[in-house]
Amino acid sequence: MAGPKVAVVGAGVIGLSTALCIAETCPSCSVTVLSDQFSPNTTSDVAAGMLIPHTYPDTPIHVQKQWFKETFTNLFAISNSAEASEAGIHLVSGWQVFRNAPKEELPFWSDVVLGFRQMSEEELRKFPQHRFGQAFTTLKCDCPPYLLWLEKRLKATGVQMHTRKVADLWELRSEYDVVVNCAGIGAHQLVGDMELFPVRGQVLKVHAPWVKNFIRDGDGLTYIYPGVQSITLGGTREKDSWNLSPDPDTTKDIFERCCSLEPSLRGAQDIKVKVGLRPSRQSVRLQREVLSQGGVKLLVVHNYGQGAGGFSVHMGTAKEAARLVGECIAALQGSSSRAKL
Ligand code: FAD
Repeated sequence: MAGPKVAVVGAGVIGLSTALCIAETCPSCSVTVLSDQFSPNTTSDVAAGMLIPHTYPDTPIHVQKQWFKETFTNLFAISNSAEASEAGIHLVSGWQVFRNAPKEELPFWSDVVLGFRQMSEEELRKFPQHRFGQAFTTLKCDCPPYLLWLEKRLKATGVQMHTRKVADLWELRSEYDVVVNCAGIGAHQLVGDMELFPVRGQVLKVHAPWVKNFIRDGDGLTYIYPGVQSITLGGTREKDSWNLSPDPDTTKDIFERCCSLEPSLRGAQDIKVKVGLRPSRQSVRLQREVLSQGGVKLLVVHNYGQGAGGFSVHMGTAKEAARLVGECIAALQGSSSRAKL
C-alpha cells in the first residue's frame, strides 16, 4: 500500500497539534488539514491559552492528568528554547484566590505545574475579599502566534493545508484512508453529536503591561491572564448560547470584576472584546469509529470536546489521537495484505 492518506478536519489548536503528532509518528503518511477557518478565525484564537486544566466529569482523572502532563512537558521544553518567543509560549506566575477554602485543597494538577503552594498571609493581603489562595507557576500560550507557529511547523513537515468546509465526513472517503475529526464545536453539525454543547465565553484583550502575574478567582469566572502582546480579562460561561456577538453590559461587568481583583487595571488601554464557543461535553470524544455504507468502510478518529481546557490538554489528546490513527493504519495494512493473498 502507498503511504496512507490522512485528512484532519479542523485547524484550531486540536486539529493542528493532532496533524503534527500524526506527521511525526507516521512519516510515511501523507497528512492534509482541511478546515473552513484558520487562525485568526477559530475559537482557539479567542482563548487565553493558560495551562490550568478544566475537569471533564466523565473522563478518569488519571487520564486527564496524563494529558495535562504531556502538554505541560512539551510546552515547557518550547518555553526553554530559542523558539519560545515566536511560538508565543512563556512561563507565568500568579495566584488562584478563594473567598472560602475550596473542598479540594490540592487540585489533581498541583504537582504538574511548578512550585504549587498555599499563599502566605502577606500575599493574601493583596486580596482583601479572599481568605485562601494558591500560588504557582504555569505556562501560557499567546494563542494566535502559537497557532501560526504550529502551521509553520506543519508546512515544514510537508503537511498540506486547504480551506474547505466538510459537510459530511463520508465525502472524504474517495480521497483519504483515515479521517480525523477535530472540528471543535463544528462537530455538533458535522457528526450530529448532541452531547456536544457550546459554552459561550466573552473576554477582553487589553494593554496593561505593568500587570505581570496572573490572578484567577477560584470559581474560574473572573481572571486576569497576562500574555506577551496583551492581557486577557475574563470572563463568562454561558451554557448552550451560540451567540458570537459581544455584549456591552457583559464587557462592563468583566472589567469591573477584574478591577476589583487588580485595581490598577482601571488604567488599561486599547480594550478589544472577543467571544468564543467552548466545545463542551461530559468527556472528550477521543475514539475510533468505522463508518460504513453499502459494504464500503471509512476509518475515523474523533478528537474533539475539550471544552474550557483545550490548550491545557492539547498535546496529550493529540498524541492519543495519533496513536489511534496508527491503529487504523495497521488495520488497513493488515486488510490490504490479506486481500493480496
Ligand atoms: P476550534 O478552535 O474551534 O477549531 C475547530 C476547527 O474546526 C476550526 O478551524 C473550524 O473552522 C473547523 N471546522 C469546524 N467545522 C468544520 C467543518 N464542517 N468543515 C471544516 N472545518 C470545520 N482553554 C485552555 O486550556 N486555557 C484557557 O485559558 C482557555 N481560555 C478560553 C477562553 C475563552 C473565552 C474560550 C472561548 C475558550 C478558552 N479555552 C481555554 C478553551 C479552548 O479555546 C478550546 O478548548 C479550544 O480552542 C478548542 O480547540 P478546537 O481546535 O477543538 O476548536
